[in-house]
Amino acid sequence: MQAVVWIEPGRVEVRDIREPDLSDPHGAIVRVTATSICGSDLHLYHATIPVMPGTVLGHEAVGVVEAVGARVERVRVGERVLLPAVIGCGFCRSCRQAYPVDCETLPMKVLGVSPLLPGTQAELVAVPYADFNLWVLPPEVADVDALPLTDVFPTGLFAAENARIAPGDTVVVIGCGPVGLCAIQCAQLYGAALVIAVDRVPERLDWAKRLGAQAIPADDDVAPRVRNLTQGRGADAVIEAVGSEKTLHLALDLLRTGGRLSMVGVLVKEDVRLPLGTAFLKDVTLRVGLVNVPRYLPALFSLLHKHRLRAGAMITHVLSLADAARAYAMFDRKEQGCIKLCLRP
Ligand SMILES: [Zn+2]
Ligand SMILES: [Zn+2]
Repeated sequence: MQAVVWIEPGRVEVRDIREPDLSDPHGAIVRVTATSICGSDLHLYHATIPVMPGTVLGHEAVGVVEAVGARVERVRVGERVLLPAVIGCGFCRSCRQAYPVDCETLPMKVLGVSPLLPGTQAELVAVPYADFNLWVLPPEVADVDALPLTDVFPTGLFAAENARIAPGDTVVVIGCGPVGLCAIQCAQLYGAALVIAVDRVPERLDWAKRLGAQAIPADDDVAPRVRNLTQGRGADAVIEAVGSEKTLHLALDLLRTGGRLSMVGVLVKEDVRLPLGTAFLKDVTLRVGLVNVPRYLPALFSLLHKHRLRAGAMITHVLSLADAARAYAMFDRKEQGCIKLCLRP
């Protein structure tokens, strides 16, 4: 089968590899119908997160169940399913509390970061603990609407929840990639009166504006403009969706006293410095972490069903899996107004 394989920094290739086999009685094989490239895949692409040559990438997918193990009870062959970005066993104490990030059984919680758990950017993917990790999709939900629910929308909702948004709040979202655009929508769902979007890429700011946010280019003097929009007070909450020390400092600067900082940008550097003195004087509440996708899926399916999410609209490009190398380069350079890419095997 064809799969996207990491070769070296800045280079992936579509290779013919062996199909996964069903040795795990709790597992399933899913025929991928749509998979996407995530911002975190770019960290692997450039090896800013360590990755081994030969790793099959990808952790966001929808598809059709091809085969199930002997002990799978809930999921059936032929069903259309969504695979969340974070997986668990479903049996341990953490998973039973919808907290698979801390799964006590699975050593790795994300597919496509190691050769031990090959990823979704392939024709077929082996999914451990299928009963817990596969979500059957209603027929009316299109692949492109389901894909953002695998990771970026749950992360956006998690970010908004952590920002403790109250009706009427002013919320700044730093970074308007797919996660930031989802966070804007989720902040609005929580009742934010004003969402201010900050990014460097004009097309991304255009998207934020279309969602109803006020856009500020990151190269402008952001802080005075935010103060202007908040009667000099600063934002009630800031969602950081980039994952850099610079944007973290900016986030603190933009907050009002007593504000909340919610950080979901992937931090690849361990030793990120946070100016705690500033945070202390500002009485800041900080929440940072990795999303527990299953916790947010019931709410997101409900919102999607009621047409309250713009999910599929974010998929600006649909390419063949065979074009993955070109897709990675385009997504990496944010070319051609690319927000979120879908690859079809
Ligand atoms: Zn992802
Ligand atoms: Zn578990």
